Amino acid sequence: MDRSMILDGTDATSAAHTGRLVLTPSDPHVCPHAPLLIEALVEEGFIGERLGDEGGASFRTGPGFLSLVAFTGCAVQIRDVPGSRGPFCHVRISSAFEHPRLLYGRNTRAPRCNACRHRLGDWRDHVRHWMSHAHAGVTCPSCRETRPPWLWDWKQQGGFGRFFVLIEEVFPGEATPSHALLDVLTRASGMGWRHFYVQD
Ligand SMILES: [Zn+2]
Repeated sequence: MDRSMILDGTDATSAAHTGRLVLTPSDPHVCPHAPLLIEALVEEGFIGERLGDEGGASFRTGPGFLSLVAFTGCAVQIRDVPGSRGPFCHVRISSAFEHPRLLYGRNTRAPRCNACRHRLGDWRDHVRHWMSHAHAGVTCPSCRETRPPWLWDWKQQGGFGRFFVLIEEVFPGEATPSHALLDVLTRASGMGWRHFYVQD
């Protein structure tokens, strides 16, 4: 399950990666208290048994998982046992990052300026700079407004945060968090949440 450890999306390339559903606080600057959040997610049956410690926290899906994540399509197959064939569905809880960081992948498209909708075509050239400069601003080449990269519109194809709950493996758009799940996250953390998708 080494593949599951790819987290920062910097140099991750795996054509076989189906994708992941990423949940993160709506405000990219805030970070929940992870132990409390994990406790609440276990209690609700979203996550089950902890998987071998791989430098982060990985969990099997819990008994309530399918009622908290809405899968589209009529033939949902969740493989919840590692080692079986096909993508293994599990949940990872990231560590807390000091500054907002971008999670992105091969599905990520150029973000749009929130003012004029111009696309930042060369966004990939900026990523390394954003990683090391927490307060970097990006000036729109069209309307000349400058704002931090997380205030650009990434749609649901990538995004910034300091803390992530990652559901592997989910094809972009194949599953969405239910209101009940967002409610559990909000109650356990005191903050609003949003979601997006990343394919390595
Ligand atoms: Zn603009």
